[in-house]
Amino acid sequence: MKNYLIYSLALGIMVLLSWSRGYAQENNLRVLLITGGHGFEEESFYDVFDAMQNITYDTAVQPQANVLIASPDVDEYDVLVFYDMFDTIAPAQQKVYIDLLHQGKAMIFMHHALVSYQNWEEFKHIVGGKYYENPGVVQGDTIRSNYEHDVSIPVKVADKTHPVTAGIPDFDIFDETYGHCEILPTVKPLLSTTHPKSMPYLAWINRYGNSEVLYIQLGHGPEAYRNPHYRQLLQQAIEWSADRHSRFSSNRNH
Ligand SMILES: [Zn+2]
Repeated sequence: MKNYLIYSLALGIMVLLSWSRGYAQENNLRVLLITGGHGFEEESFYDVFDAMQNITYDTAVQPQANVLIASPDVDEYDVLVFYDMFDTIAPAQQKVYIDLLHQGKAMIFMHHALVSYQNWEEFKHIVGGKYYENPGVVQGDTIRSNYEHDVSIPVKVADKTHPVTAGIPDFDIFDETYGHCEILPTVKPLLSTTHPKSMPYLAWINRYGNSEVLYIQLGHGPEAYRNPHYRQLLQQAIEWSADRHSRFSSNRNH
């Protein structure tokens, strides 16, 4: 009898555990992580997302990623996270990006995604800025962007009350700077830096259509991926972005 009780109890706990795991998974935020066009150290990069709480992700590589984004399957995802650096996009796919943003789709652009689509003028209005691979004229000045690897960058939290940066102190990160980029004057800065080789903002929110697009410049390689503040920033960015845009999501209302 005593054994029977112990077995029943153990079985009950096992059922409960697997049920709660399934329940947790079902309620995870669903992320589509888009890469392609720029190399990166994959194992340590994906570890950032593997370690996240309450987030499940699929990966898509360009150019197939833009095909997926233009398909109904895009509705499966709460947040599109771009870590691609790509230049080819068909006009119909451009229209899909714009339509999705007018519907209020959550999009986060990371690091070299700022360099994407050099010849698609609207793209900088989506991301809120542009890295100029070739000289470009910005407010009367000709600028050409540049980068520097292996820099210790002082990061200042520009808005300590925003959910994306809440609880994150000012910190240093070993990462890559982007200099002489265009940043649209309408963005809302979240992170800034005084590093002379960097553009002044390292993260911002840019309103486009019915979406608040996030851009995070940091995140070149393993040193940045390992930084706990960077990890916290990305986790909170995905959570906030999903939450902020959830009312527009059609099939996640369970
Ligand atoms: Zn880089």
